[in-house]
Amino acid sequence: MTQKKQRGQLIVLSGPSGVGKSTVIAELLGQREDLYFSVSFTTREPRTGEQDGVNYNFVGRAEFERMIAAGELLEYAQYVGNYYGTSLKVIQEKLDAGTDVLLDIEVQGAAKVRARCPEAILIFIAPPSFEELSRRLHGRNTDGEEVIQGRLKKAREEIGEVKNYDYLVINDRVSGAVAEIEAILTAAECRVENRDHIVKGVLSL
Ligand code: ADP
Ligand code: 5GP
Repeated sequence: MTQKKQRGQLIVLSGPSGVGKSTVIAELLGQREDLYFSVSFTTREPRTGEQDGVNYNFVGRAEFERMIAAGELLEYAQYVGNYYGTSLKVIQEKLDAGTDVLLDIEVQGAAKVRARCPEAILIFIAPPSFEELSRRLHGRNTDGEEVIQGRLKKAREEIGEVKNYDYLVINDRVSGAVAEIEAILTAAECRVENRDHIVKGVLSL
């Protein structure tokens, strides 16, 4: 029986910069059309190839601080000198409409989501090794050496937060990581509390 869910699931994906989150998410969105990716707000500069409104909503610090003061963000954090945050209104509308929402956010933001939305599913993506993470950050060719060293240092702290997550996925091969996340989402969908409408439907027959 396929029936639209009453409420969507909130899925948080975190992991060090360069681990491959955007790559994995792009693949996942291609496979699951019922999944909505929340486009965050950030004060960082766009990288080559990034589009406003697609990868991020790029805003100035004054506008970001206005959004904080107005309570428009579900969560926000500062990461290597820039603000990043999630719009509350957009994700609430999607969840209320029964659509699953995927957030790509760092560890402080994920902790705030856990506190505000305890039912959220938290997935941490780790690299197969630090050497490989460094290779990917250099290979992406979007950041200078100083920024890369800052992100590698940050990665060690972030990996220490993995205990606060529900699931750990190693992004060795993209297809393997995507398959594991698919499995997590499918299992979550099958939880009895998420199938209340089906149970009620069957019992009323
Ligand atoms: P993030 O969004 O986590 O910062 P990206 O998706 O931008 O990371 O990936 C960083 C770099 O690593 C990119 O050049 C991407 O093509 C590459 N990459 C991603 N996943 C893998 C993988 N499983 N194996 C090898 N390279 C990968
Ligand atoms: P990047 O600059 O590499 O795109 O992202 C840097 C970090 O910011 C990543 O760990 C990413 O997950 C995180 N990030 C992106 N959007 C948000 C957001 O809306 N909130 C928070 N807390 N972190 C975010």
